[in-house]
Amino acid sequence: MIKAKNRLGLIFFPAFDWAISPTHPEREERLLYTQDQLFEEGIEDIEGIEFFNPIVADEKDVERVHFCVPNVKSRVTDSHLISAGGAMRAFQAVMEKKVDKAFALTRPPGHHAQRVVYGDRGFCIVNVEAVMIERIRQEYGNLRIAIVDTDCHHGDGTQDIYWNDKDTLFISFHQDGRTLYPGTGFIDEFGGPGGYGYNLNVPLPPGTGEEGFLYVLDNVVLPILDEYKPDIIINSAGQDNHYTDPITYMNFTAQGYAELNHKLNPHIAVLEGGYSIEGALPYVNLGIILAMAGLDYTKVHEPDYNREKLKQSKDITEYIKKISEVIYNRWKDKDNLYIKDIRGKDYIQRHRQVYYDTDGILENQVQNFKVCKNCSGVNTIDSRSDTGYHIFAITIPRDACSSCIDEGYRLYKYALNKYTNVYLQDRVNDEYLAK
Ligand SMILES: [Zn+2]
Ligand SMILES: [Zn+2]
Repeated sequence: MIKAKNRLGLIFFPAFDWAISPTHPEREERLLYTQDQLFEEGIEDIEGIEFFNPIVADEKDVERVHFCVPNVKSRVTDSHLISAGGAMRAFQAVMEKKVDKAFALTRPPGHHAQRVVYGDRGFCIVNVEAVMIERIRQEYGNLRIAIVDTDCHHGDGTQDIYWNDKDTLFISFHQDGRTLYPGTGFIDEFGGPGGYGYNLNVPLPPGTGEEGFLYVLDNVVLPILDEYKPDIIINSAGQDNHYTDPITYMNFTAQGYAELNHKLNPHIAVLEGGYSIEGALPYVNLGIILAMAGLDYTKVHEPDYNREKLKQSKDITEYIKKISEVIYNRWKDKDNLYIKDIRGKDYIQRHRQVYYDTDGILENQVQNFKVCKNCSGVNTIDSRSDTGYHIFAITIPRDACSSCIDEGYRLYKYALNKYTNVYLQDRVNDEYLAK
């Protein structure tokens, strides 16, 4: 009998009864082929690999992270609550020391869901990782967390949620936003005043292969994690960088994903995208599971794998070296950049347009971040959607000082009756108001 070196928890939730449409790439078969593959490989017989059932996230878990417009019930399905609950179960199993690591293979995915939620964007409504993290922080205190997003699309939702939070380092590598949805994720998106330098993007050119991904990992991600020293590392494990993925243009492989996971050594992985449901997902998921369990993954290959054909061009290699250096140097220089870009200002304002591709909604936002000497600063979102809402949303952060708490409640009272909906997230007292 094979024995895993690391005790690994697996949580499966294919969400059989939920799909955007029957032929949409984000559908339940995404996990069925993986399930077959794992049975075939005898994963459930490996000693030390244990299966857990998801729990169900509740409304408050969602409100801790999102402003759902008009409310949670109208936007979020049971499948979303179970997908987030599956991730929570993964994190709980690690915190309770039932396992060393855990992988939540759940859907629908979540990393495009931002703070404000009018509907579905990039197949996401609830940011599964963020809901999981904030629930665990509520139970276990303010852990220092690093999220490494290896989905092919920029994790713009996770970026938005942790934009102003230096205790949650966010690193996303993805296909360059000039060539792929959601069109963001550039090097200068560096975080709000409370977390300046703790939001890092690595935009990669189409055609990037194993060599490029592992170069970024070795030369940017691992050195930064070494310096940041997180309590917990989470991998947003999107698998759409695979060479067979139908909606992206990258050349990554199951072997590459397994190697990346092995080197990154995350406590928790949460499945994000990946739409090559037969050609990629069964192999990538198997590779990741073996790597997390500390077992040999070197024999995991797609049936049509051809190393030579998948090699990235010299130009791409050179380009990736250059941007890696720029990104790492910006990280090292973040305190000086803060002095230059933020210090001395009372507020930092950000204007954004957010497109909900799945639901066809356009949103215009103005975010305001208070620059506070004593905490990350109360912050607000003034947002209009072309579906007729004009909302005002206030966040009192977890580390808020008493004057930022007071200001949050003052803003809430002042805004009432001036908007279609007003929201207050009081993260200090874990209280959520809406009118
Ligand atoms: Zn994706
Ligand atoms: Zn403050």
